[in-house]
Amino acid sequence: MTWYVYRQNNSQGVFTKPALFVAVEVNATGLSAEEAKAVAWARAGKVGVEPYAKPYCPCCGERWSDYASEYKERPAVYSESYESTYRDWAKQDKVPLALYLHADGTKEEVMP
Ligand SMILES: [Zn+2]
Repeated sequence: MTWYVYRQNNSQGVFTKPALFVAVEVNATGLSAEEAKAVAWARAGKVGVEPYAKPYCPCCGERWSDYASEYKERPAVYSESYESTYRDWAKQDKVPLALYLHADGTKEEVMP
């Protein structure tokens, strides 16, 4: 299994849920890296996480980074300070910090 993590960019100073990232678990056996990423994006898209989601900002860039970090283990939510703004927003708006899409089809939300 491989986990692909997509992180949000707060384009125009707003965010959509989940605040920090969506992590998609893909059974990548027999798939090329590009094929596995396509599977991951397709599954993220079903919950509204799309590479070109609005709002877009010409100075801040795309809403979701199209760079996927890869992990062999379920990625954790760390308490790094650069994430504190996202955490504060998530707390205020009661939205999940992170969303995990497991290969078996189940979803797991981490609340702030
Ligand atoms: Zn901007």
